[in-house]
This record gives sequence, structure tokens and C-alpha cells, in this order.
Amino acid sequence: MILPGVYSTGSIIGTSYLTLAGIPSKAETCMSIDDRTIKYHILNDIEVEIDDSALLKRAMVKPGTPIAGMALEFAKKATHAAHPKAMYAPIYIDERNGDEVVIAGIRFNSRVLSVNVRGGERVFPFAATCGNELDNWSRELSDPLEHYWAETFKGVVLETAVDALRADVEERYKTGKISLMNPGSLENWPIEQQKKLFELLGDTGARIGVELTESYVMVPVMSLSGIMFPSEQSFFSCHLCPREDCPGRRAKYDPALYKNKYGA
Ligand code: SF4
Repeated sequence: MILPGVYSTGSIIGTSYLTLAGIPSKAETCMSIDDRTIKYHILNDIEVEIDDSALLKRAMVKPGTPIAGMALEFAKKATHAAHPKAMYAPIYIDERNGDEVVIAGIRFNSRVLSVNVRGGERVFPFAATCGNELDNWSRELSDPLEHYWAETFKGVVLETAVDALRADVEERYKTGKISLMNPGSLENWPIEQQKKLFELLGDTGARIGVELTESYVMVPVMSLSGIMFPSEQSFFSCHLCPREDCPGRRAKYDPALYKNKYGA
């Protein structure tokens, strides 16, 4: 399950309407887990620029109308408040068996994840966010229409952060195509495993301003966390998800896939 307009596992839902306007500024920090030093890359200056027509389509506003002008004015203001951020760490897999993957001594329970990371030795745990600046700015809005536009915009900004993350991993580590999974996207990888993922990610609050609540929800809500992995064939949770009429569906449900690929 994902929020409409936010990422599903594997790639972007729909089109990304904000594009990178330059290479994100990068920082690095290290942390020790399980007696090893983990290096974290932090993307803290991801620029965004607006594709007007795509944004209007996403907000379901007809171009050329007075309301379209209002929506684009609003988007300009929102862009000033937008500071998306992302972080990730390259980590070698310790161990994987049928239903588990062990990364830096932390055990994740998911058969789908275990099978998906079979082709590589290294994975990239990550978190990305639309940023507290935009989230706080949007909380001040009282107009319901502006509030709706802000939520749409935050989803798009998050997509920009994940695009930057993906590009950085692919370029820096020459991984080829990568896919991603996030806890809670499938029954096979429950949301409770966010806790383990955040142990792996370390101080996300200090690094990119993302906190995990006791109910495993991230703040800002328009954030995404998970594990990226090299994958010649794109993986989408939607292939394994039977939910009907989902506005965020990226790929057709394949009822035979789980049995055929994941051996259950
Ligand atoms: S179809 Fe399922 S996995 Fe895909 S976006 Fe919708 S809820 Fe998420």
C-alpha cells in the first residue's frame, strides 16, 4: 500500500514532474554497526524545477483556465519552500536464505526481498523526503484547495528526491538498473520492519530530518524508505499486489508471479 502520488516499489508512479536541475550537493558521514564502518551518502541540495503542463495534469487542473494560473502561482511559492533530501549507504549482504536477508548484522524477514537481492552482493538502504521545510510551510495553509495542491506537490517533490537518489547510486556505484522495495509495500515485508531499516540508516533525523514514529510512520509523511538493489528486470510491488482500482498502480498484477518466482 502506498499513498497516491508517491512511489511504489520499483519506480515512480506515473511521470516525475520535477526534474533535477543540477547535480545534488553531496555529503558523507560514517557510523559503526556490528563492528563495521558504514558510509552514508547524503543528498541535501536537490534542486527542483516545474514542468507546468505535467503538474497541472497531476493536479487535475485544465490548462489555460483561471484556476490553472492560480495553481501555477501556488506551485512557484511551494518551489521556494521545497528542499527535498535523501540518504543511502552501500552495504554488502552478510547472508541470505529463503526468507531472510542479513545486512550489517540486521536480519530482515521477507522472502520477496531475499529473492530480489539474489543477483548482487551489495544493497543500498535509503530514505528520501520532500523535506520538513515544505511540510511545515504546507501546514500553515488553511484553504482546502491549496491544501490539496500542496499534498500533490509534496508527492512530486518526494519523487524528485528518489530520482536523485537512484541517479546517484547508479552513477557512483555503476550498478546498472536498480529497483527498490520498502517495508509495508507487501504483506511479505511488513511495515514493522521499518524499525530494523531505521537501525541500519542511523540518525535520519539529524541527516535529512526524517523521524520514524512508534507506529512506523515517517515524519514528514511524504517520505520513503527502503532498500535499493541492482536488478536487470525492474521490480514493482504492484506485480504482486491484487488491489483493484489503485490510482498508483505501476504494473499489472500477475497472480502466478509469487508462486513462480518466489517459490511459495
Ligand atoms: S497496486 Fe498495490 S503495490 Fe501498487 S501502488 Fe497500488 S497499493 Fe501499492
